[in-house]
Amino acid sequence: MHCQRFERDLLEDDPRFVVTFRLTADWTGRLSALKKDASTLETVLKECAAMDDDELNAEVDEVKAFTVCAACRTVLRANPLQRADGSTPRTGRLQ
Ligand SMILES: [Zn+2]
Repeated sequence: MHCQRFERDLLEDDPRFVVTFRLTADWTGRLSALKKDASTLETVLKECAAMDDDELNAEVDEVKAFTVCAACRTVLRANPLQRADGSTPRTGRLQ
């Protein structure tokens, strides 16, 4: 087992954590655009038709999980979006 963030080997007794990213499509912008412009629907349908099942699923709801070490956990908790300036939103938004 190793930390997937730094590709560093973890010893048997090293604490390890799982960081999970779930990227879910927020269609709000596109749906409101659809009401104004019917050609947007055609564009979206063409984009979807060009994707295979895996690509389409990833576009809508993608989940990835990685094992990380304690040091990486600390970094990710402090700056989960990995902004260059180190700032982070106070809370995440769950829908
Ligand atoms: Zn690490």
